[in-house]
Amino acid sequence: MKRNATYTCLLLALVSGCRSSQTSVATSTSRPPNIIVIFTDDQGYGDLSCYGHPTIRTPNIDRLAREGAKLTQFYVASPVCSPSRAALLTGCYPKRVGMHRHVIFPDYDYGLHTDELTVADLLQENGYATGMFGKWHLGHRPGLLPTDQGFDTWFGVPYSNDMAQFHRKPETNYRYRLPLLRDEEVLEWEPDQALLTRRFTEAAVEFIDEHSTEPFFLYLPHSMPHIPLYASDDFRGNSPRGLYGDVIEEIDWSVGQVLDALDAHDLADQTLVLFTSDNGPWLSFGDHGGSAGPLRGGKGTNWEGGQRVPCVLRFPPLVPPGSLCTEVITAMDLLPTIAPLAGAELPAELVIDGADVREQLGGKPAGGTTPRSFLYYTSRGELAGIRRGAWKLLLESGELYQVEQDVSEVRDLAEKQPDLVRELQALALELDAEVSANARPTASTEQLLFDPARP
Ligand code: MG
Repeated sequence: MKRNATYTCLLLALVSGCRSSQTSVATSTSRPPNIIVIFTDDQGYGDLSCYGHPTIRTPNIDRLAREGAKLTQFYVASPVCSPSRAALLTGCYPKRVGMHRHVIFPDYDYGLHTDELTVADLLQENGYATGMFGKWHLGHRPGLLPTDQGFDTWFGVPYSNDMAQFHRKPETNYRYRLPLLRDEEVLEWEPDQALLTRRFTEAAVEFIDEHSTEPFFLYLPHSMPHIPLYASDDFRGNSPRGLYGDVIEEIDWSVGQVLDALDAHDLADQTLVLFTSDNGPWLSFGDHGGSAGPLRGGKGTNWEGGQRVPCVLRFPPLVPPGSLCTEVITAMDLLPTIAPLAGAELPAELVIDGADVREQLGGKPAGGTTPRSFLYYTSRGELAGIRRGAWKLLLESGELYQVEQDVSEVRDLAEKQPDLVRELQALALELDAEVSANARPTASTEQLLFDPARP
């Protein structure tokens, strides 16, 4: 009751502050909104029709953008998988939660600490049904799985889809294997990867069908288009962009299935749907990697192409259809933004790095006089740079870019702006020192849930 009352008040407050008249939404909504996060793996800024790709067809994701907002300056907190995922779910820089040291490999014994508050924890504690279908990559030893981090149920893979094929256990030269799990149980070893996008989608739609009459949080982190690429027979060979295009078009089909399920249950108006990627395209793999469009660099780098990713969001009570959001928004903003929407209170003592960006998503510029700062960290968690307002400084090289005018980072303005370079350098060190001083531990265990290696 308390939650519903809070939510209704909040919606009324939002509506009264908005230009459009959406009172009917406020009065007809009697439960907190559903939250859906669709998170792809290594998809670039330029890999969607609505972000300008000339041949990849993404009508369903484009529809989401048309019915909601397309974000042009959305950042993930790391240019690689595990740290980026930790930030999305906790609202924190990976370093603050200890998850900044590159990605989790099959024989690693640690993961995100269960003391951390994830988006799933918060929503589960507030009465949501929580389901995850896809790639986890935040630790796969006992006690570190999605079901330990706020998800009622999980169906998916624990780490990247290439780890069984291209990596070996160092001392033994054993091959790693990729398991497919439901909750804490291995269902299959080496599943047919051509079917993963389809199977995760079917499980997600089943979850929506099962929970359509109660608030739910659906996290759908596809294991594609991380290499090696696989598409099902229905999509393979269809796209002029080749296999990479086939994979993206199957993901787009998946988004369409989710939107159809919402429509079937008449839930579109009371569901926030976010679509984004965990980091930029893996350019080392030629045409099996994606495109960052006009942005420089890709996965693993701190150029814009590594961390600025496509992001579309639909939530009719807040976001006017057809919006273009050009504010700097990050994946760390998810937790503090959905908490008030869900009528959930974040613990007063919780230190996070994200911000509540409801106003920016609703079409208003960020409040306050100080432009927002965002720290860049390398794939191994070292401080790499800072963005403040339109400016970006890379620390090691000392390059300074005005990244709103110069999205491709080709005009280094450091020599012309030495005072700004010094100021941003000092600010980056100061902000990072605070994160480091207050960093929290990961959790580890010697116990195995499954043996990822075999002769
Ligand atoms: Mg990734």
